[in-house]
Amino acid sequence: MIRQAVFLVGGKGTRLGALTAETPKPLLQLRPNVRFLDILLENAARQGFSDIILLAGHLGEQVEALYDGRCVRGATIRVVRELEPAGTGGALLHISHLLEPWFILANGDSFFDINLRAFATNPPADAMVRMALRGMYEVSRYGSVTLHDGRIISFSEKTDAMAGRRLINGGIYLMRRSVLDHVGDKSSLEHDLFPALAKMTALNGAVLDGYFIDIGLPKTFEQAAREIDNLSMRPGAFLDRDGVLNRDGGYTHRPDSLIWMPNAREAVLELNDAGYFVFVITNQAGVARGLYTEADVGDFHAAMQAELAEIGAHVDAFYYCPFHPEAASSEYRHPSHPDRKPNAGMILRARREWPVQDRGSFVIGDADSDMEAAHRAGLPGVFFDGGDLLSTVREALAINRARPNAHSAVHLARGKAADGGIV
Ligand SMILES: [Mg+2]
Repeated sequence: MIRQAVFLVGGKGTRLGALTAETPKPLLQLRPNVRFLDILLENAARQGFSDIILLAGHLGEQVEALYDGRCVRGATIRVVRELEPAGTGGALLHISHLLEPWFILANGDSFFDINLRAFATNPPADAMVRMALRGMYEVSRYGSVTLHDGRIISFSEKTDAMAGRRLINGGIYLMRRSVLDHVGDKSSLEHDLFPALAKMTALNGAVLDGYFIDIGLPKTFEQAAREIDNLSMRPGAFLDRDGVLNRDGGYTHRPDSLIWMPNAREAVLELNDAGYFVFVITNQAGVARGLYTEADVGDFHAAMQAELAEIGAHVDAFYYCPFHPEAASSEYRHPSHPDRKPNAGMILRARREWPVQDRGSFVIGDADSDMEAAHRAGLPGVFFDGGDLLSTVREALAINRARPNAHSAVHLARGKAADGGIV
């Protein structure tokens, strides 16, 4: 599982004028105390990128002071400052000793809302880099990319004369560390490396759809500030665990007892691609009864996450309740713990801890207590009868799509592969 993500945050942002005179572009605030970079970091961290490196240059001391050593949603952030400008290629070469065999590289001044976990799944055996591409009508600012059979074969310069829908470089790459053998001390990834890789047929492209914005112009920066909710808020799918995601063998807790319900992993992927947060909410009375420990629960969830990652899916957060009225030890004894379903505590906690939009959110469970918890949280409950979880999820998404004033099409459409999947 690829866990490393590197963000390029060293650019000068000259087109933003006074805005970036004293602040690096990715550190500009969309609203008080919410920096553009925060959105990118949170988004990578929730998808399992737990080792994040920020490559800082211009005004890098600010990036270092604000982010170095910080922890975001379980991810650790390191800041590496470039002392002399060496271009994006040179900067990456400078940190080669810190890089994993495969890692994600992303621009720090643009946000392309794709399923990053899926993008980093199954690295290509026959290429050095996979570039995320996006179809766009107005490409004069970006230049365009020509794709043939999944390979990027050429780049066109930025020009005013481009018409029609073209593919642009979405600023997110899956990279093999050994690509650095082709990178010069002072070089640009966009101008030197990528065209060279295209000539070597070592550059793959994945055409993806999803919300895209870059904050390179005053106009687009203002747009990002206006659309901040689209950047960070998502509806939530709250899934019961035993009997919904995995077979309920009765106090299931050993990773080797993990048997997925039919199409359960695919159902999570569907929700990820639809732009949902996916939360697991599960009563774990086995802890209260002394059958296993909270550490065992954590191991089971880690095993689920690892197997989800194999198909490009992920759970954003696991919430479990170890309490029970008849617990063996007083530590876990509670007459009616707020977290224990049918109480809604876990759902309410997830809503406090994450930017969950109520519109479009729902609960899926296989017990009355799940439906009651949904009711108490004011969310629709979808009963799962133990069949195919993917069809249940698709029905739930369709109902939300059909409902008047359902959450925006942006949320439902984003993250979907535009051409039927990742190349
Ligand atoms: Mg259940």
